[in-house]
Amino acid sequence: MTLAGPKRKPRLLLVGIGHANLQVLQRMFADPQPDVDLIAVSVSDKHHYSAMVPGYLRGGYREDQIAFDLPRLVAAAGGKLIQSPAVGIDPEAQTVVLQDGQEIGYDFVSFNIGTKADGQDSPGIGENAVRVKPMSQAVNLKRAIVRLRDTTSPEKQRVAVVGAGAAGFEVACGIAEFLDVAGRAREVSLVESSDRILTGYSDRFRKKAEKILARKGIHLHLGSHVATVHPDEVELADGSRISSHLTVWLTGATADPMFQGAGLDLDERGFILVDDYLRSVSDSRVFAVGDCATLASYPDTPKAGVYAVRQGPVLWRGLLAAIKGTAPPRYEPQSGFLSILNTCDGRALLWYKGLISNSRWAWWLKDRIDRGFMAKYQGLEPPPTF
Ligand SMILES: Cc1cc2nc3c(=O)[nH]c(=O)nc-3n(C[C@H](O)[C@H](O)[C@H](O)COP(=O)(O)OP(=O)(O)OC[C@H]3O[C@@H](n4cnc5c(N)ncnc54)[C@H](O)[C@@H]3O)c2cc1C
Repeated sequence: MTLAGPKRKPRLLLVGIGHANLQVLQRMFADPQPDVDLIAVSVSDKHHYSAMVPGYLRGGYREDQIAFDLPRLVAAAGGKLIQSPAVGIDPEAQTVVLQDGQEIGYDFVSFNIGTKADGQDSPGIGENAVRVKPMSQAVNLKRAIVRLRDTTSPEKQRVAVVGAGAAGFEVACGIAEFLDVAGRAREVSLVESSDRILTGYSDRFRKKAEKILARKGIHLHLGSHVATVHPDEVELADGSRISSHLTVWLTGATADPMFQGAGLDLDERGFILVDDYLRSVSDSRVFAVGDCATLASYPDTPKAGVYAVRQGPVLWRGLLAAIKGTAPPRYEPQSGFLSILNTCDGRALLWYKGLISNSRWAWWLKDRIDRGFMAKYQGLEPPPTF
């Protein structure tokens, strides 16, 4: 007769603590699951909240106001945190491979790792440009602009932000205002390969944003494809050059290469294709949320943090259902969203269902929403050990 050994707890592995996995931690704190073995994997010990990064660069927030303390959050949720980026997944073996060589087994895994900047392997970028993704890089960018502010050279400080999406627009505004407040002469350029800024927004919104850039003296270079980044200039494909003491690389979103060839169904851009329950369409043990996933039923859903935030509660209930073998809840994305871009001058540029406002109240609203999101998770404390 063989005696059955002790039953192993099902293991839930969270890879990347973005907007949705963060909520799983909060739910595991509020509603402890002693029968679940929770492991979280992250690039660093902090998750920086992207929406507040432009305000942080401008000098309006300290790092501790925009960053989640992951060791504390994971401990509060009763889990174990491993700090090493995930670099691969083997769905058949049910393991995730980390950069430090560890292989972590799982029963269910939830990927929430965001995106990488497009074209970041282009010449000179690794050595000569500062990136913002993963968001922990925002701290390096802040250090770089503080160095520009503090340099003893009387020269105008030149900054090129490559990529004129919402993030590039906000970061260019944040850096310009930071240097202006410090009284540094500066020249900030926003460089964009397409013929327009803020793709995906209306013409009216774009015009308003262009006026704001012009008012701040931020130079817009449209139709300018960057070929190489040099230490002191950006070289364009047509051979022209833009002087730059600091180049920030903030181009469009691309998928993490770890998913290529792993055996999961991906969309044509390499993002994990998920069903209405936020599970990989080819493997129901693999969940993917936020920007690293594409919804098979709603493939045009924008890659924006607001969607990842709304996925959080559905993800949590879906993971519990998977562990307990019950029916999962269905996710349906909201039809539109409130977009507020920080112009970093005490105002923000708001768009909602055709309403456009560049105002102090829009900034007040954005600050309130963002601080509210942070406050919800920052207060979690690990349970006392007796
Ligand atoms: C400057 C800036 C401002 C923005 N402002 C807004 C805004 O106001 N509103 C809005 O809706 N969107 C905004 N966005 C877009 C927004 O950042 C993304 O859409 C959003 O962050 C995606 O959320 P996510 O939860 O999918 O991933 P993320 O927020 O990117 O979180 C992913 C996490 O996973 C970690 N990670 C990455 N790779 C790995 C790996 N291999 N292994 C383990 N961990 C990993 C990262 O360090 C990070 O902590 C902004 C983007 C930028 C750059």
